[in-house]
Amino acid sequence: MLILMTNNTFTKVREVFKNGAPGEKVLLRGWVHRKMEVKNRVFLVLRDSTGTIQCVVHKDSVPESVWSKAKAITRESSFIVEGVVKPDKRAPGGLEITVSNIEIVGISSIFPIFGRESVEYLLDNRHLWIRSRKLTAVFKVKHTVLDACREFFLKRGWWEVTPPIITMSACEGGATLFELNYFGEKAYLSQSAQLYLEVLIYSLEKVWAITPSFRAEKSRTRRHLSEYTHLEAEASWYNMEDMMRVTEDLIHHVVKRVLEERLEELEFLGRKTELLEDLKPPFPRITYDEAIDVLRRQGLPIDWGEDLGADEERKLTENFDTPFFITLFPKKIKAFYMKLCPSNPELVLGFDMLAPEGYGEIIGGSQREDDYDNLLARIIEAGLNPEEYKWYLDLRKYGSVPHSGFGLGVERLVMWITGLDHIRDATPFPRFRERAYP
Ligand code: ATP
Ligand code: MG
Repeated sequence: MLILMTNNTFTKVREVFKNGAPGEKVLLRGWVHRKMEVKNRVFLVLRDSTGTIQCVVHKDSVPESVWSKAKAITRESSFIVEGVVKPDKRAPGGLEITVSNIEIVGISSIFPIFGRESVEYLLDNRHLWIRSRKLTAVFKVKHTVLDACREFFLKRGWWEVTPPIITMSACEGGATLFELNYFGEKAYLSQSAQLYLEVLIYSLEKVWAITPSFRAEKSRTRRHLSEYTHLEAEASWYNMEDMMRVTEDLIHHVVKRVLEERLEELEFLGRKTELLEDLKPPFPRITYDEAIDVLRRQGLPIDWGEDLGADEERKLTENFDTPFFITLFPKKIKAFYMKLCPSNPELVLGFDMLAPEGYGEIIGGSQREDDYDNLLARIIEAGLNPEEYKWYLDLRKYGSVPHSGFGLGVERLVMWITGLDHIRDATPFPRFRERAYP
């Protein structure tokens, strides 16, 4: 029984392509990605987590029992094959396996995805569509993105911390809060870990975290999820410019790692990589005021003081081949905790990083208000209850320090790097207002 073999007797598809010598006997296991029958032969494309390889069963050179299994096996069945590596110019990758034995592990019913199905249908069958090579490629890129982020902070001496998901107060505005019942009291799912990270910088100085953030976004867009992976960082002694440099170095580092390790996946996804290869900090910086001017010149009328939506951001990205920053926003469109600009108190020391090619905002950050009285005034101005923010205000009472931070939407970054046209495929189980399945 092949199934009883120990794990290390199996070869992965990638190893076959890397080290497989013609004539070498191998044992592979995986799923039937494709099946084709031609006269006396059955072609089974075996898929494992590392790739796909063609396995050929010849009627005349295997026992009848093996031939009947090859005939009976269905697409997406799990199986084990024993065979010999054979160079073949026509096979993808130049190698195939000549099969000597097969074992069906789990036979598959007729797999309900054939290709060309609608987006809705594929979401209905997300648990099965997830096996697709497209989603597999995206998740491998996402893995490398997360790994590169961790490496970046680790090497620079930042502390990774674990802020809570259940929160007692809103951070990014009440409109997009998910409420929950916390032992009879109102609580919320976190929209951002920022306020907690701010608490931690008084001891650890430079902290970062990856947590899910929850936003009950009302409208369905191509770049909003109700639950997303939020990478946030906060550091004492950092001003806005210091923090902007951290973000551009981070993005540069992540893109470089992805290009080093995930070219195959990017290629499979049809991603053109020139722009990613050319990326080099410092990224261009424009102020909000300049952005308004540029938009007006580009024929998109917008009043000073209005927030930049997806359309405005897309228009702005036409002017850049690299990620770029917009800085110094009107205070009325930004959160209460952003520090006022010393030279113009109508503006805040906030920055957004926008990805090019129409993608738009991937990072939002700012220098934080570190003065007790100013912060209290902003909280009241924003219509919030200072009682609920007592602990947050306390930070400005006990050894306040200039500090800055940012939040990065990991799925937004993955979406841009992989060239996806919708954020849903940057996460295995997307959650939207209309649906959260499975
Ligand atoms: P937007 O204006 O695009 O709605 P935001 O200004 O509300 O975003 P921030 O509060 O600054 O976003 O959050 C920091 C980062 O988190 C954003 O730059 C973005 O990358 C990501 N992000 C925010 N909301 C979502 C969401 N609903 N789905 C996915 N990512 C998000
Ligand atoms: Mg923002």
